[in-house]
Amino acid sequence: MATFDDVTERRRTEERMTHLAHHDTLTNLPNRSMFRERLDQALSETQAAPAAILSLDLDRFKAVNDTFGHPAGDWLLKCVAERLRRCLRSDKDVVARFGGDEFAIIQFNIKAAADAEKLAKRIIEVIGKPYRDKGREMHVGVSLGIALYPGDGRDVDTLLTNADMALYRGKSEGRNIYRFFEPGMDAMVRERRALEADLEAALPRREFELDFQPILDIASGDIVGAEALMRWRSPSRGLVPPDDFIAAAEEIGLIVQLGDWALRRTCGVAAGWPRDMRMAVNVSAAQIKSSGFARSVISALAFSGMPAHRLELEITETVMMDESDAVLRTLGQLRGLGVRIALDDFGTGYSSLGYLRRFPVDKIKIDRSFIRDLDKRDTAAIVRTVIALGTELGITVTAEGVETAAQLDMLRKAGCGEAQGFLIGVPAKASEVSRLLRSQASLRRSG
Ligand code: C2E
Ligand code: MG
Ligand code: MG
Repeated sequence: MATFDDVTERRRTEERMTHLAHHDTLTNLPNRSMFRERLDQALSETQAAPAAILSLDLDRFKAVNDTFGHPAGDWLLKCVAERLRRCLRSDKDVVARFGGDEFAIIQFNIKAAADAEKLAKRIIEVIGKPYRDKGREMHVGVSLGIALYPGDGRDVDTLLTNADMALYRGKSEGRNIYRFFEPGMDAMVRERRALEADLEAALPRREFELDFQPILDIASGDIVGAEALMRWRSPSRGLVPPDDFIAAAEEIGLIVQLGDWALRRTCGVAAGWPRDMRMAVNVSAAQIKSSGFARSVISALAFSGMPAHRLELEITETVMMDESDAVLRTLGQLRGLGVRIALDDFGTGYSSLGYLRRFPVDKIKIDRSFIRDLDKRDTAAIVRTVIALGTELGITVTAEGVETAAQLDMLRKAGCGEAQGFLIGVPAKASEVSRLLRSQASLRRSG
């Protein structure tokens, strides 16, 4: 009997070990290695039926962890696992947890891509419903990438990579999205990854530069400030404009360090310029959301000796759209020190006037797309209205992208405070702007 017990016990232990090796301990779902095994098995059958491989990644899961703590995050992951399990139609299908907030699904025996699409839509709907625990309510979303067997690949690695590729693409377009793999996607993703890798290396290699674009006070005709605009001088890519790399820098979190560098550098440049010149720096939402932002601004000011009222932070509406009050509190704190806040690209987003009530700004910058169309009656009416609104609220209005004398003339007549654009000056090296300022000062002395 003893021997029999020993054998059973040993077998049980072995079974437990195998189970552990193949399952995720938190959710008890199959893990990555089990998932691969099952897929490999199915594909090796001689006449394997079409299947879909779905790669999943939760949206905003980090926020749940940060806000409610890790035990709540773990509980939520278990709920997600259970909901996913229930989304599957056949018990042959597999849902696995790959780790963190990553999951994957094999949907066997599909008739058409539409079957996978239906499943993806159902998952987005089911996962997006609130999670309630101990009186708390949590929300997450999910994004999915889908690869189809045999069209998108015939082996496990290719299928998984392609599903990930589609997921990655979906994530870059927004949240709560599903995307099918498409040929050409891999080239795009590879290119983006290469850009991100180059970007990571660029800061320690000092490949970033700032150009400065002068800002004109329309009534006096004086240059009263300048905006710092970032450029990336990459040895392999040449001079890269910010529109091509800021979004990637935000995605990989580099923008916090990079923005900090821009702030310090701008304040440093300001120290050598006339005392009444204002310096504008663009800041991303991700920077303001990072915990050390206020400290980083204060330290840049202190280090350079530049007074706070000369610094202007240009933010976009996405900053105001943030649900948390922390961002508005940070901006309020900085504004309390005298730092000015400008609302950039006004008119391009939601342009909700509610933002102007939620947070008082010092400046509105009308986006250059409006100035370009200033000769159109409707656009001109909008621009005049924004200028009047600014006057009424005591907010400076700056027109961006002023390229012709006719545009400047019209803005002057409408009572616009400031202008910026190629007509006044193109973005240039600090030393060149400095020369312009000196000649302006000497003109003023002689006039
Ligand atoms: P923005 O803040 O609206 O900057 C103005 C952009 O308009 C600049 O493009 C400038 O070169 C361009 N511009 C100025 N005058 C004219 C004109 O008369 N006509 C035309 N067609 N364009 C004009 P740039 O330098 O390519 O910057 C693009 C955007 O990149 C900026 O838009 C800003 O949102 C972002 N950016 C630039 N530097 C930084 C930075 O240091 N940090 C962050 N977070 N974003 C930055
Ligand atoms: Mg700007
Ligand atoms: Mg702008």
